[in-house]
Amino acid sequence: MKKKERIGRILQILEAEYGTTGTALDYDSPFQLLIATLMAAQSTDVRVNIVNKKFFGDHPRARDVARLSVEEIESYIKTVGLYKTKARNIAKTSKILAEQYDGDIPETREELEKLPGVGRKTANVVLSIAKNVPAIAVDTHVFRVSNRLGLASAGDVLKTEMQLMKNIPREKWSQAHHWLIWHGRRVCKARKPLCAGCSLLELCSFKEKNV
Ligand code: SF4
Repeated sequence: MKKKERIGRILQILEAEYGTTGTALDYDSPFQLLIATLMAAQSTDVRVNIVNKKFFGDHPRARDVARLSVEEIESYIKTVGLYKTKARNIAKTSKILAEQYDGDIPETREELEKLPGVGRKTANVVLSIAKNVPAIAVDTHVFRVSNRLGLASAGDVLKTEMQLMKNIPREKWSQAHHWLIWHGRRVCKARKPLCAGCSLLELCSFKEKNV
């Protein structure tokens, strides 16, 4: 089977399995999505959602968070990994958004990546979800699953992102990001992929399949 055909089949199966899907993070605005995504590094979405129920419940907008001290933010998010660094970044980013963007988030990756604590992955996530800009954010699941499957063949996240953008039709970028995350969480797990029950078994190029 040719590469293009194989990738097309993989995407069809992922789409049939996971459909139109989105982030597991809870949010009510682009600002909240940005902060939740920033908090999710080195933590789980479930933990971030628990923390943010109270944090965003008390301080829903950028201008509300901008009024808090770093210590006050820490007290809300201390059960999230790397909370001290994240609290500093959330304080600075919220101030910038409140003062320069009227509480919204910037429209471009360049501006987003200038915000404290916001890297390329976070920028891609919020651009694709909040601004409908096609993008593929490569997190640990997307990196692992796409390289196992053969949708990419790269040793780092940036090269993986570039190859995925080349191999996947642009209109499917944002959804493919979510499909790969869900497949990584449910089936193609890091330590023991559940290959025997994987719908992509025949199409997957991973040499160490768990069957
Ligand atoms: S066959 Fe195994 S390695 Fe390949 S995608 Fe499925 S679970 Fe992952």
